[in-house]
Amino acid sequence: MKNWFLFCKGDIYLEVDAEGHLCIPCSEDLPFGQLQDAIVMTPMNDIESMALEVCELTNDCRPGFVKMELRTSFYHLDTESYLLAGKAAELLNWHAGTHYCGYCGGIMDFHTDISKVCRSCHREIWPKLSPAIIVLIRRGDEILLVQSKTFKSDYYGLVAGYVETGESFEDCVYREVQEETGLEITNLHYFGSQPWPYPRNIMAGFEADYLKGKLRLQFSELKKGGWFRLENLPRIPDKLSIARRLIDHWISEQQKR
Ligand SMILES: [Zn+2]
Repeated sequence: MKNWFLFCKGDIYLEVDAEGHLCIPCSEDLPFGQLQDAIVMTPMNDIESMALEVCELTNDCRPGFVKMELRTSFYHLDTESYLLAGKAAELLNWHAGTHYCGYCGGIMDFHTDISKVCRSCHREIWPKLSPAIIVLIRRGDEILLVQSKTFKSDYYGLVAGYVETGESFEDCVYREVQEETGLEITNLHYFGSQPWPYPRNIMAGFEADYLKGKLRLQFSELKKGGWFRLENLPRIPDKLSIARRLIDHWISEQQKR
């Protein structure tokens, strides 16, 4: 048995099983023929996995398969399969951008499951992630929620941003909060992290308390934002994000009061 993580331009193909549930295709033979890229992934629990980029196929061609956005697959797959699918997507994205060495232009070959070596200068590279922070800021019984310009629909999230070179996660939180809101925070604590394969990020989540300052939104990055109580929460992010886990954790703390 093999897990076949089949992608087409960032979307994933799932198979409809006998009970009508969606799952990762796992037949012995490759279910699709038209391959563009194939990567052997590190086996998990003795099960081999392949990350595959395939050509677009019409639904008529492939009865029993459904194509969807990777993030939608979170709501159909178990957590382990969703995380593996994310890893497969990240490997394909990394592979697509590293056919040639960034130093000398030589051809790169896979060296291990997660590294490549240049044929000419022999430099070894590993998949690069872009680390980012996200922070829930409390002020009494309120939290700060903002709407980024990048959000595709009308919901509110948390202050977030990419870690810059030479910066710790904590430095990044203080800087992003200052830049995006003009606020100073205190009691900064690590909450947890989450791979974010859109396309290759890792999100580190934090909680903090408001210290001082007047809210001044950075409108080059944000559309709107403000302080919200439990009773007047706007629409919040979907369940797959660490933003939602942070907010849900705060909600459960508020409900205990
Ligand atoms: Zn090279």
